[in-house]
Amino acid sequence: MRALRRGTNLSRVAGFNEAVVIDAIRRARDGLSRVEVAEQTGLSAQTVSNIVRRMLESGLLLEGDRVTRGLGKPRTPLTLDPQGRYAVGVHLDPLFVTVVVVSLRGEVVAHMRMPSPAQVEPTRVIADLAEAVPALLDEAGVPGELVAGVGVAAPGPIDVANGSVLAPPHLPRWRYVPVVDELAAQLGLPVLLDKDVVAGAIGERWTGATLGQAHSLFLYLSTGIGLGVADNDSIIRGSTGNAGDIGHLNVDDNGPLCECGRRGCLGATLSPAALVEQAVQSRLLAGRHLEAVHASDPVRVDESFAELCALVDAGEPGALVLVDASARQLAKAISTLANLFDTDAVAIGGPTWMRLRGVYLPRLEALVAADLLGRPGDRPVALVGTVLGDDVIAVGAACLVLDRAFAPAVTAIALEA
Ligand SMILES: [Zn+2]
Repeated sequence: MRALRRGTNLSRVAGFNEAVVIDAIRRARDGLSRVEVAEQTGLSAQTVSNIVRRMLESGLLLEGDRVTRGLGKPRTPLTLDPQGRYAVGVHLDPLFVTVVVVSLRGEVVAHMRMPSPAQVEPTRVIADLAEAVPALLDEAGVPGELVAGVGVAAPGPIDVANGSVLAPPHLPRWRYVPVVDELAAQLGLPVLLDKDVVAGAIGERWTGATLGQAHSLFLYLSTGIGLGVADNDSIIRGSTGNAGDIGHLNVDDNGPLCECGRRGCLGATLSPAALVEQAVQSRLLAGRHLEAVHASDPVRVDESFAELCALVDAGEPGALVLVDASARQLAKAISTLANLFDTDAVAIGGPTWMRLRGVYLPRLEALVAADLLGRPGDRPVALVGTVLGDDVIAVGAACLVLDRAFAPAVTAIALEA
């Protein structure tokens, strides 16, 4: 194993003006010339020139060839150097643990998946991660000194200040686990922890479906259902970092009974366990899977859910009736949330989405458009499937690190003052 950089505090790599320059270049898919950077950021040509020179020297930027288009002046595009820095993303999901290595441009350069952490002692999972991360960096040929840090995304509730996973409902063994301290001590890298949907929203905004959207939502459909909110380019974390708990949003007064005592909560109605339960009740999966539907074992639920999704793909009429009903419930939730946050786009991801997106997307587009008729200005909401696939939260976790290190933050102004 290589020796990794010591230290556990992730400091900002860039000051405010540097971060503004990086941000502008990152958002321009074809790069920006120095003149364009100055135009877009409002910084003086001299300031831009100095910042760009330092960033070229430190390996954060690449300078392309001079190109002339038409009669215009030749321009030399600057892009982020994908090999300039890297970040590691870890996603703890009840179904699996995903680890990715992501370049400064948000591209996945290495990926691995470990089995469900639900029934494993957290100390074992953390020790496995401490072995897996350096091995994955080795495999990708990424030197440890170019790794900005490790982002961990977990289901809530979490304690952001202490870097602990508190008591996620679908990870029964994970109670008050100090993930950040443990992993940082074993890896010798800075480690950050955020809620899975916060990571997802950041990932989509850095590199995914809502790139460049200042106001967007990220809906995560997994064993649990959660929401990430990007508002005016900031991610809403709430006062404890646990914003986005939408599991008890009512979507059906006659829906299944929720653990909270009410009927038709989003989580209790649209979780894989709930959909499998409905399939069993309607005799789609009758007999074979009754005993498998046990929400405390997300892996077994997932196996039954995969069979239900296969019936949907095969066009089984009963399965399509079930999907139609769940699409109506999901659309109700999306319309409510889109209005609540006055948003422009909703990105959707997660294991449930990855399996059912082909049938869900056209239904949701029609249902949500109809729900939102009469919205002020008749403004539509774009529904987009994640382009980051099964890795969406892991990529988002890596983007937490990039965001902390390189995105313009008001705190950076205070530090420079
Ligand atoms: Zn409830």
